[in-house]
Amino acid sequence: MSKAYDCIIIGAGVAGASTAYALTQKGQDVLVLDKNGIASGGSGAAGAFVSPKIGKGSPLQTLTNTSFSFAKDFYLSTCPSLFHQTGVIRIPKDEADAKKFTEYEPFNENRYAKYKTEQLQAQGIAVEFDSFFFPEAGVCDAKEICEDLLSNIEVVKYEAKQITQKDGLWCIGEYSAESLVLATGYESDLADLRYMGIKGTWGTRGDFASQLSLDVSMHQSMSVGANVDGIIKLGATHEKEVKEPVPCQKGQALLLKEKASSLIDTSDLELKEVFCGMRAGSKDYFPLVGKVIDVPFMLETYPAVIRGAKPEMKYIDNLFVCNGLGGRGFVFAPLMAKILSECIVEEKEVDVRVDPDRLFLKWCRKSPELDALR
Ligand SMILES: Cc1cc2nc3c(=O)[nH]c(=O)nc-3n(C[C@H](O)[C@H](O)[C@H](O)COP(=O)(O)OP(=O)(O)OC[C@H]3O[C@@H](n4cnc5c(N)ncnc54)[C@H](O)[C@@H]3O)c2cc1C
Repeated sequence: MSKAYDCIIIGAGVAGASTAYALTQKGQDVLVLDKNGIASGGSGAAGAFVSPKIGKGSPLQTLTNTSFSFAKDFYLSTCPSLFHQTGVIRIPKDEADAKKFTEYEPFNENRYAKYKTEQLQAQGIAVEFDSFFFPEAGVCDAKEICEDLLSNIEVVKYEAKQITQKDGLWCIGEYSAESLVLATGYESDLADLRYMGIKGTWGTRGDFASQLSLDVSMHQSMSVGANVDGIIKLGATHEKEVKEPVPCQKGQALLLKEKASSLIDTSDLELKEVFCGMRAGSKDYFPLVGKVIDVPFMLETYPAVIRGAKPEMKYIDNLFVCNGLGGRGFVFAPLMAKILSECIVEEKEVDVRVDPDRLFLKWCRKSPELDALR
């Protein structure tokens, strides 16, 4: 057995990379394992748009917007060359949506301006509705951000098949550590995480070479990146029927180009590369950050939990999760990593909004997976 680390993180996507970075900043000795290398999952496919959430005000909107503010400051100070603060225009989809924008306005928690259709048309954006412009938003280089965060951290290409605990250490093959973080995206079978309801949604993004002068990013029913170094990123499809990774489809990227033609002049866009991957979301769309409940222990020791009892939670020692970042991994990851690193190193309580505990009791009461015990 080689040396024991303070922490091993399984998964080198944006969740694992951000957590590794935050833990290292706190002086921890960290090892990151990924079966396919850095940003080989959903993170490598992401358009990595970093923008606020609009809506009529909700706890998820507030958390997203707090995370957005944190993320853009984090990227600007940590890896400024990889975050392009182009601003993002949020455009209504249709007339009905345009009416909703008026109701959304009081809930715009981040700096914004209203753009009239004429202002947009002057920028070459064919839009018939007044829109919001968020000047602090932008787009980042997905894979490069993960690589940058991990540049001073040991990363090994290794598939964790099993995790075991021995003499107070987590053991994964020849590697061991005091604490273990599962940041494995939609694949979540290394521990019993069923109560978190982690699910993948498949998506495609296309990178197109273009000479089009477009210095702002925009989002309507899809995202169109500003032209950065001759490349315009178009993303993303949401294909719920895809359950397991499949080869990237050029056709899906070309569909995005067709859709984008209602916003910008796509005549010189030439498809350069197609990216695809699974984004992992939780049941209630909030991230999943914190300790992992010992499910077999809870069900065996407190069988009444499936009928509504509320016993004290028992956790698996030093096992943590950072997952469920959904379609906003690059928005959530920096703040979630800070929260998790404070939980691991300083034993701080995790923000209840993201603590996976919130889902456990309901899962016990309602999940068909436990019908046999009822
Ligand atoms: C097409 C597309 C477009 C998107 N656009 C945006 C966007 O514009 N903005 C935004 O913020 N987000 C976007 N997202 C969402 C974002 O990509 C996800 O939220 C993010 O990838 C989640 O990161 P993660 O680290 O949790 O998971 P992942 O990136 O999937 O990382 C999980 C890693 O774990 C590894 N792994 C799994 N099991 C094991 C094991 N047993 N042993 C070792 N390694 C293992 C995998 O190889 C993988 O690298 C998009 C996603 C997609 C697919």
